[in-house]
Amino acid sequence: MGSPAEDVIILGSGPAGLTAALYTARANLRPLVIEGNETGGQLVLTTMVENYPGFPEGLMGPELISGMRQQAERFGARFLKGDATVADLSRHPFSLMVDNEVHRTRTLIIATGASANLLGLESERKLLGHGVSTCATCDGFFFRDQQVAVVGGGDSAVEEALFLTKFATKVTLIHRRDKLRASKIMQERTFANPKIELLWNRTVVEILDASQGKVTGVTTRIDGSSSLETLACDGVFVAIGHSPNTKLFSGQLEMDERGYIVTNHGTMTSVPGVFAAGDVQDHVYKQAVTAAGSGCMAALDAERYLENLG
Ligand code: NAP
Repeated sequence: MGSPAEDVIILGSGPAGLTAALYTARANLRPLVIEGNETGGQLVLTTMVENYPGFPEGLMGPELISGMRQQAERFGARFLKGDATVADLSRHPFSLMVDNEVHRTRTLIIATGASANLLGLESERKLLGHGVSTCATCDGFFFRDQQVAVVGGGDSAVEEALFLTKFATKVTLIHRRDKLRASKIMQERTFANPKIELLWNRTVVEILDASQGKVTGVTTRIDGSSSLETLACDGVFVAIGHSPNTKLFSGQLEMDERGYIVTNHGTMTSVPGVFAAGDVQDHVYKQAVTAAGSGCMAALDAERYLENLG
């Protein structure tokens, strides 16, 4: 059936997928990277990366990704744009459908990462792309000289808030607790920025105004009371964490209660020959450097598995 099976297919093109590609390419396994429709994963949505070792001045997320991709390509990695829509891990070689074409492979490295969570409000769904965004780097520019709100209290939220101060006149960070989860250095920068105001202990109950098709404000409920308050703003950035992109493998691989792929002994999943790396199997560290590290591990694990297959 179709073309011969690949040795390695890698799903995903963030730091985990690209590092797995580099290592398997250098092992002469000619990996095929199915890079998704949004090449590069979450790093292409960030600005300055200051904590990737080896770059004392920091570098831009897209630049880091582009360097990793070129490096993997130099050693023979091949890239295919598009998303896998069907996967069958019940038979070996495994098969994946991408754009109505079936690809078979003896090992699979899943590095599909995680995607932004939403609040789950009807008004948020209606206004997504019309003033509601999950990516300040992508959409911040549209809010020049306007007022925006950012929802969340982790590194993503404060990073978005700080970035948005370049454009907006005022940024209100709305958090559901009285403490930020973000790293200390990011918190300090946030508190020191005169354009950022913090609203503590608030739950966003509605984004206004879906009937006008644009954002005019946010209604929040103050914790422990039933009173509502409305903050006028022109844009809302939702930065409340991420969920793993694992739907394709549901029922086929062991996952935890949040849908993260369970790995053992390095990057092995519950199906021999299938490995997982990066945010798709990590809800603890979630850093570019840890994703890259686990991509390397998955490549070495896949290589060893193929050697044992003979
Ligand atoms: P996160 O650390 O999981 O933080 C999510 C934040 O959103 C938390 O403050 C959480 O509140 C809040 N939240 C979650 N669900 C919510 C809901 N339904 N309504 C309102 N608020 C909600 O996620 P993240 O900020 O995306 O960061 C993910 C990882 O990437 C972290 O390990 C982070 O260190 C890393 N990261 C690093 C950088 C950097 O170093 N420059 C930048 C971005 C991300 P609670 O605090 O109450 O749980």
